[in-house]
Amino acid sequence: MEGEHTYPSYIGLIESGEFDKRVSTSLSMLESCCLCPRECSVNRLQGEIGACGVGRLAIVASAHPHFGEERPLVGRHGSGTVFLSGCNLKCIFCQNHDISHGLSGKEVTAGQLASMMLGLQTAGCHNLNLVSPTHVVPQILEAVSEAARDGFRLPIVYNTGGYDSMEVIGLLDGIVDIYMPDIKYLSRRAAGAYSGAEDYPDVIRAVLREMHRQVGDLEVSADGVAARGLLVRHLVMPGLLDDTRRIVEFIAGDISKNTYLNVMRQYHPAHEARTHPPLDRPITAGEWAQAVEMAEDAGLHRLDRAL
Ligand code: SF4
Repeated sequence: MEGEHTYPSYIGLIESGEFDKRVSTSLSMLESCCLCPRECSVNRLQGEIGACGVGRLAIVASAHPHFGEERPLVGRHGSGTVFLSGCNLKCIFCQNHDISHGLSGKEVTAGQLASMMLGLQTAGCHNLNLVSPTHVVPQILEAVSEAARDGFRLPIVYNTGGYDSMEVIGLLDGIVDIYMPDIKYLSRRAAGAYSGAEDYPDVIRAVLREMHRQVGDLEVSADGVAARGLLVRHLVMPGLLDDTRRIVEFIAGDISKNTYLNVMRQYHPAHEARTHPPLDRPITAGEWAQAVEMAEDAGLHRLDRAL
């Protein structure tokens, strides 16, 4: 294999048998589903469906080397991205609505998902980048366990909207090398109105602290590839700069001023946001510049402005 990558954390857990215990524990959470803060209590092992729209099997929309992610993830050979269908958030501005709620893609067994992971490794990708993994963590762990037996060794990137259960994030301790949460808002009003999750601010604060406790600040190797740590995204949204200010102050004050933060400027009105002011327009150049200035004023100095 051509791509360079670090030795992933989970191999020791697999060798000790601890990994398979985590697979079992997470699978048992599907019986009365409490995988995320929605706690739908449906029996997904029997195929029942909760708010995320996904039952026993994960649905994969696509799996391929991706060169549009943050530079430390892409490196020279790309980030091995698996887009998982379904989502536990209800963002009215969702930029991937076909995947998140249209459930486009196909159901995969653990063996099929493991084959996709191995294919991304063979393609030379630097990491396994799981997009929207929250509602299918047990299915992912089953697949990683299977793939690892066949030589899978890529570090795992947990690319999440951040509405995660603390119990599940605890189960991922020592398994995920790079956490990449997208922090959307810190006001309950915006979280309730735009993502259908008024408790999102409380959840994301706790989740970010735990992620950082597990992996620390982002470490990048000499060749510029992310090895381990926390990489935070924040999509700047029209009319929500107060939330941006609260977010950067929270990250700088409660997480770390060395946090790698991607201040994203590509918001465009999609899905229901097209008819929902103030989300019915792109952000202005001035709003994005203010967001960057807020981050710098808060003391954050590892800003990614590429996307
Ligand atoms: S993962 Fe899905 S079914 Fe389970 S609690 Fe969350 S939204 Fe409900």
